[in-house]
Amino acid sequence: MLLKDKVAIVTGGTRGIGRAIVLELAREGANVAFTYLRSQQEAESLCGEVEKLGRRALSLQIDVRDFQKAKELVEKVKEDFGRLDILVNNAGINKDKALMLMAKEDWQDVIDTNLTGTFNVSRNAIVTFLKQKSGDIINITSVSGIAGMGRQTNYAASKAGIIGFTKSLAKEVAAYNIRVNAVAPGFIETDMLSSLKDEYKDAIVKKIPLGRFGRAEDVTGVVKFLLSDAAGFITGQTIVVDGGLFIQ
Ligand code: NDP
Repeated sequence: MLLKDKVAIVTGGTRGIGRAIVLELAREGANVAFTYLRSQQEAESLCGEVEKLGRRALSLQIDVRDFQKAKELVEKVKEDFGRLDILVNNAGINKDKALMLMAKEDWQDVIDTNLTGTFNVSRNAIVTFLKQKSGDIINITSVSGIAGMGRQTNYAASKAGIIGFTKSLAKEVAAYNIRVNAVAPGFIETDMLSSLKDEYKDAIVKKIPLGRFGRAEDVTGVVKFLLSDAAGFITGQTIVVDGGLFIQ
């Protein structure tokens, strides 16, 4: 097992990509704490699934937009599990709209959740990682933050910000044996995609060289690799998982 007895925090663990990451880390031997905002039932059933795999689970209703709550999250995990080794900043939202129609609240909410949320949890976890001179951070960004996408100025700005954050933090903490990397999914079949119209989805699939939307498991495979010793010399990178859609 790759992550035997390690302790991980995954933000936004109840659905989609975050849920798949929680289960993959547990399969690899980690005890996992995950956060959510509203999905209490999903959180309870996910805890059960992690426990069935023989691992400990902790679900916490924590809004990543709240710095104080992020501090409490890290404290609670250390108190309950006695350590912290891995942070996956996955919680994210989109509120797509043409800029001329975008309300200030839609801009702010997406930046606060995706970018400031990543800061809030990382800022609190990094203290532990620096003290113990080890730790891994994986930030889930998006190809939208690399290539841009119409009607996503707020989302793309937040995700591009995460890539800059990843590069800067990687340089800052490398000397402490802490690696910081990002994964940039393309179109992955989760609740986030369900708001798209079928015609638009059909048009997108035609443009994906590998001919399909991604699955959450396509992302977790890369997260697992980045957390493994095989990736021990990789830091500050953003790995694109998009079926070839944005080959540069
Ligand atoms: P989902 O909408 O399926 O799940 C989002 C998760 O984030 C849920 O667990 C949700 O909790 C949680 N969450 C949302 N807001 C907050 C908050 N303020 N505080 C704590 N938790 C919160 O998203 P995906 O699985 O599709 O996306 C996961 C990540 O991957 C996101 O960062 C997204 O931007 C990124 N991504 C997704 C792509 C896709 O095509 N799906 C493409 C590129 C990137 P709750 O269940 O309680 O609402």
